[in-house]
Amino acid sequence: MKIEEQIKILSKELRQHNYNYYTLDNPTISDYEFDLKLKQLQRWENQYPEFADKNSPTQRVGGEITKNFETVVHENRMYSLDNSYSKEELYEWEKRIKKLIDGDIAYVCELKYDGASISLTYENGVLEQAVTRGDGTQGDNVTANIKTIKSVPLKLAGKFPLKFDIRGEIVLPFEGFNKMNEERLVKGEEPFRNPRNTASGSLKLQDSREVAKRPLECLLYNMAGVNLGVQTQFESLQLARLMGFKVPKAAQLVTSINEVFEFIDYWDTHRHALTYETDGVVIKVNNLQQQEELGFTAKAPRWAIAYKYKAEQVSTRLNEISYQVGRTGAITPVANLQPVELAGTTVKRASLHNADQIQKLDVRVGDEVFVEKGGEIIPKIISVDLTKRPKNTKKTNYITHCPECQTPLVRQDGDAKHYCPNYQGCKTQMTGRIQHFISRKAMDVEGLGGETVSLLVDEGLIKDYSDLYGLTLEQLLPLERMAQKSANNLIAGLAASKQITFERVLFALGIRYVGETVAKKLAKHYKNIQALANATSEDLINVDEIGIRIAESVVDFFNSQENNLIVEKLTNFGIQLSLSEQLLANQTDKLKGSSFVISGVFERVSRKRLKQLIEDNGGKISSSISSKTSYLIAGSNMGPSKLSKANKLNIQMISEDDFLDNII
Ligand code: AMP
Ligand code: ZN
Repeated sequence: MKIEEQIKILSKELRQHNYNYYTLDNPTISDYEFDLKLKQLQRWENQYPEFADKNSPTQRVGGEITKNFETVVHENRMYSLDNSYSKEELYEWEKRIKKLIDGDIAYVCELKYDGASISLTYENGVLEQAVTRGDGTQGDNVTANIKTIKSVPLKLAGKFPLKFDIRGEIVLPFEGFNKMNEERLVKGEEPFRNPRNTASGSLKLQDSREVAKRPLECLLYNMAGVNLGVQTQFESLQLARLMGFKVPKAAQLVTSINEVFEFIDYWDTHRHALTYETDGVVIKVNNLQQQEELGFTAKAPRWAIAYKYKAEQVSTRLNEISYQVGRTGAITPVANLQPVELAGTTVKRASLHNADQIQKLDVRVGDEVFVEKGGEIIPKIISVDLTKRPKNTKKTNYITHCPECQTPLVRQDGDAKHYCPNYQGCKTQMTGRIQHFISRKAMDVEGLGGETVSLLVDEGLIKDYSDLYGLTLEQLLPLERMAQKSANNLIAGLAASKQITFERVLFALGIRYVGETVAKKLAKHYKNIQALANATSEDLINVDEIGIRIAESVVDFFNSQENNLIVEKLTNFGIQLSLSEQLLANQTDKLKGSSFVISGVFERVSRKRLKQLIEDNGGKISSSISSKTSYLIAGSNMGPSKLSKANKLNIQMISEDDFLDNII
């Protein structure tokens, strides 16, 4: 076969896999295999650039940089939608359109996806251009970025109109959004506020490789152009699906406004189970002929209307604002509310975030406030009901001193939060740090809990976590509720924690922004605490995935005389402040990027040892098989469901011998 032909066939196969995975949510090969095939295609394209296609699946990873987004005039204007908030308004809408057209009217009900709108232009079945809505008449050309979104087909399947625009919404599903935020927090970056803003911000990133990393999706809802070959909105949605677009299944064809209400009521509750955010329903006249007769107002089509759901909101009284001090000294204002029912739970407290937020809302003790529950767990205060403001309320003055230790608070440039700078002396911070130190993911000290830590600090027995290791039975026994046995356990637990590895000790130290993942990276890179303590901010930034905030915070930590003394004390007590020699000798990056699942019983080594070997060599372990699994290490007596899943996803299975003799 000619190479040109082979490139075509492989491209087609990869397109199908992309479609199965991202549009149908039904992958048929493993990610690993997909990557191999993609790499093959890339090799061929590099070797024979004359046969490379600008819409090849290899283009999905991005690479193009857009410095200034070109302004493009929409061939078919992008209208906005009229909104409605009640069923009465929908009745009125129906009355209005019935005056303008004859005959029965059928409606398509769709969900209103909450993201950033986009218009895609296809010619001869190929994506030519992607443009943001802009002001409706013209928008920004963001084609390079949109091409990285895997549910956007670069080439269409089946029969398609010669040239058309298709409109949709770029959304960021909750799961991907939360994951991005977790990663940002680990890196010490501010989390994104909500999926919608993040989605629209993503479209305007200059580096398309960054966009490729974000798990965006494109949901389509409307076709525009001539000779589309369809007579109704509902048919156009079906056609779009056949061409390979992602069109949510919720869309429903109904024949009366009462059925529209049923749709609205159904999705009012069920939409919360969707993987992405929706904020209402869009109702459209189904027949395109009727749509044309109805036409547009200056701003919106007459043939469609949005119905917006109300976010669940209640009003209640603000009894008090209290201020919490975290272990890093960060101050968080909390609204204490008159308890009230909201979305199935009793709400007593709401977050007020920071001083700016309080000022913006002008919220005062005694006010009646509106509380809303969005995607977040902790409800937030939306606004104040000024009509109910009691006389003589006083403007809220943000605290100027730490509520625990009375030290004047500081707020650094660019920081939204106030901090108590009394690192050594603020009891809440001291206690918080020690509680963090002994916690399960850190030093995991058995026989010691958070309350005992508070007691030990209150009694003046410990000031920082290194003091824990100097505690004696004689000191502990006189304490309240401290029996001989618990005291023994506590001392034994502390002794056992001396075996905890360096990376966890580093996490336990509680350096601001140094979470578990960052601690691992730093431990691996610097290998001992002295090297880390000597690192400059520039050195630190050069470590993979370490940003300026983390770097500065590490430098700050080791600039403090007290911290150095504490570290020295820990060293003297025998805490692991370097990677053990043995560990160092056995670590490699060999398995970097591979993910393993272990199943069954093994003969040569224990399961625990297998895991250790994988991790020491840079591999990942996961407990269940997914398309992301690279290898399944199969022992004897493996579960049948794992086996069939592995077969179905085409996961490479290897034996214990394979792994120990050939891979490691
Ligand atoms: P608004 O931004 O409130 O004027 O609402 C109009 C926007 O809703 C449109 O520009 C679309 O981006 C968006 N939208 C979301 N889902 C749909 C849908 N199913 N049909 C039409 N527009 C939708
Ligand atoms: Zn304080």
